Amino acid sequence: MDNIVDFKNTEESHIVPSGFPELDEWVEVINKARPITFGYPANNNMDMSDFYEWFFANGLSKASLNNAGDPFSGNKGYALSSSKFEREVIEWFAPYYGFNAKKVWGIVTMSGTDGNNHGIFFGVKYLRKKTGKNPVLYVSDEAHYSNYRLADLQNLEARIVKSDIYGCMIPEELEKVLDPTRPCLIIYAMGSTFKGSIDNQKALNAVLAKYPEMEVYRHVDAALFGGYLPFSEFADKISHQELGYQSIAISSHKFFSIDSPSGLFICEREIYDAQTDFNVLYLNNNMRMINCSRSAIEPLKFWWLIKKKGYAGWRAEAMQISAMTFYLIFCLKKIDWPFWYNECSNTVLFKRPSAYVMDKYSLSAGYDERLGGELAHIVVMQHVLRKGIDQFIEDLVKEK
Ligand SMILES: *Cc1c(COP(=O)(O)O)cnc(C)c1O
Repeated sequence: MDNIVDFKNTEESHIVPSGFPELDEWVEVINKARPITFGYPANNNMDMSDFYEWFFANGLSKASLNNAGDPFSGNKGYALSSSKFEREVIEWFAPYYGFNAKKVWGIVTMSGTDGNNHGIFFGVKYLRKKTGKNPVLYVSDEAHYSNYRLADLQNLEARIVKSDIYGCMIPEELEKVLDPTRPCLIIYAMGSTFKGSIDNQKALNAVLAKYPEMEVYRHVDAALFGGYLPFSEFADKISHQELGYQSIAISSHKFFSIDSPSGLFICEREIYDAQTDFNVLYLNNNMRMINCSRSAIEPLKFWWLIKKKGYAGWRAEAMQISAMTFYLIFCLKKIDWPFWYNECSNTVLFKRPSAYVMDKYSLSAGYDERLGGELAHIVVMQHVLRKGIDQFIEDLVKEK
């Protein structure tokens, strides 16, 4: 297979031997697949090499760095942490999600799932403290599976709300399953996993507002779209100020292109203040979050990217993604291959091609009777470029 995307700074064919043939083979497989892995929301044209050069040059790989502790407490616990930078990362991002940087709390998480876990955990504690009752969790049937799994883990009653053909939670269906006698913990999907749909928070909030006696906590699962929306023309669609949600989770290995799983969890300071104290003397800290040890390296990478790329860099990438999404749509239209997409989404659904094409481009499969049954999608990330799309379209034409 040819290397179809012109990546900067890469020499795919050049393998530095490890001394272990199994590893060398694996490197070859990864480097071949990298430019045309189209079905998942990961950027495969990232480059953290300057970060690693700095990291190794300073002997930091010899230290056991660890951010155990609360980056906002200001307490000095374990000396070998990067908490200061973690806090700065949260404070830098908060305004892009419409939070007041002075009334915010957050951490760099291990993943989007970890962020959702904190959103649900904080939501339950907040609602219980206010009402003395356990909440019911509401989430759509198109949301990421982690939300159902976490509801199970946290022993919550989850009510799954039906979504429309585009994958958005249906307000009338929410009302049908709503129990206004119990507090409501609702998860809004911003970029549902398969269809890339965005729940209409204003319409759903209007349903909840009909029951003013019901306490509500809103968590936004924005693992993918939380990355590029703030840098796109649709920034208001994710604004806390506009929408009034309490917390948000974002994955940083998706749009932000950090090269290992991590994420952001951001919430209103008031929500953090309502959490249960956990004074852990040996950490000199009040540990209100779930995990003890947390990565010190991911916050450093994030901080590095903020300085190197910042708003302008991510804005350019968001615009490129949007342009390439339209290019893919244009090409599918031209060859008359059935497709669907949501406004401001970089996820394009289409009729599922052969197993050969599915495998070649690492496409992921979906199913919806209402859209003709078997589906697949491409998530247009930074490495999905004209050349790759053209080759994909050629492969589709061969199947017609
Ligand atoms: C990817 C994704 C998740 C899971 O995030 P991880 O970082 O993989 O744990 C959750 N929700 C949505 C909408 C996602 O796209």
